[in-house]
Amino acid sequence: MERRRFLSCSCVVGFGILIAILVAKISISQGEELDMGIRIPPNSRTPLISKLESMKKLELKKGDTHALLPDIKLQLYRLGYIEGNAGADDGLFDERLEAGLRLYQSSFNLPVTGFLDGPTIHSLSLPRCGREDVRGGAALMLLPRKQWMAGQWNLIAGQKKWTSSSNLTYAFSSTIGSVQSPILSEQDIRSAMAAAFYTWAAVVPLSFKEVDSFEDAMIKIEFLEGEHGDGWAFDGVLGILSHAFAPEDGRFHLDRAEIWTVSLQRTSSSDAVDLQTVALHEIGHLLGLDHSNVPHSIMFPSLPPRVVRRFLSEDDTMGAAALYGNPPPGPPLFSSQPQSCSHCSAFILILVFLSILLS
Ligand SMILES: [Zn+2]
Ligand SMILES: [Zn+2]
Repeated sequence: MERRRFLSCSCVVGFGILIAILVAKISISQGEELDMGIRIPPNSRTPLISKLESMKKLELKKGDTHALLPDIKLQLYRLGYIEGNAGADDGLFDERLEAGLRLYQSSFNLPVTGFLDGPTIHSLSLPRCGREDVRGGAALMLLPRKQWMAGQWNLIAGQKKWTSSSNLTYAFSSTIGSVQSPILSEQDIRSAMAAAFYTWAAVVPLSFKEVDSFEDAMIKIEFLEGEHGDGWAFDGVLGILSHAFAPEDGRFHLDRAEIWTVSLQRTSSSDAVDLQTVALHEIGHLLGLDHSNVPHSIMFPSLPPRVVRRFLSEDDTMGAAALYGNPPPGPPLFSSQPQSCSHCSAFILILVFLSILLS
């Protein structure tokens, strides 16, 4: 019975894979673009990103004026580097901007010049998480590493963590249907998110399970656009990609305008963003971690387009362990591991291997 089920399962999967390979080969041989159908409207990029592109060769310092400085100040204000709403002034490079830039440069491991120079403009133009880097006057990314061992480093203030349950549930709102495209199916989104939760479940004694009811879920995932009621507006393609709230709020928002992908091979867009990488980062916030200045940490705030990071660094895992301790021995306590039988996985690997040999 088991053998018959395996053979029938294998045949169906194998036939499907072969058809998919054939279709892909025919498509490519005909010169079709894999991301055909993705159309980015002109001027849909975040305005600040477009403007920064024109500034890369500038070097501005205290006393200078420039029409883009109000935008830069507003961005630094939103991230916590400048106090008080600085978006409506006259474009003067003042002391407040200089101090904010120094703090920004320190946080991002840049040369601390206090100038608006090329490396700083490049860093400011990278897509990033919408959560601030400075809160209550404390530059979160600069807190001494040694404090980590005391459980203070890289953690959201107050050491917020999930205490009501260690079996967390998550659900997607109906907005999941609004981001489907020729390069991204609803199942792609669910699988990428499940993989990201699974990665965290391997390092903390928590389980994550997808449930149907958005209202009842502890973690609520939504794809939203522009102002959406929580004061953290999204801004179009690139710029701010996403944000998530500290425990036990559970809100996890992604900018619907992004060109989300789960495979860079499916799109040639220079603005494509890997969904699983961003999900890993935001789940870190959902668990109680804050931004880190360790460049390859998943909790580093910015992420260039077309960059994939699907692993946690030691920096991330130690921060999580400081909050929750280590997981019990054995496989992760993840309840929603994508359904697949081991026989099918092995058979698929063999088929892929054969297709490579035959191509
Ligand atoms: Zn973040
Ligand atoms: Zn939001």
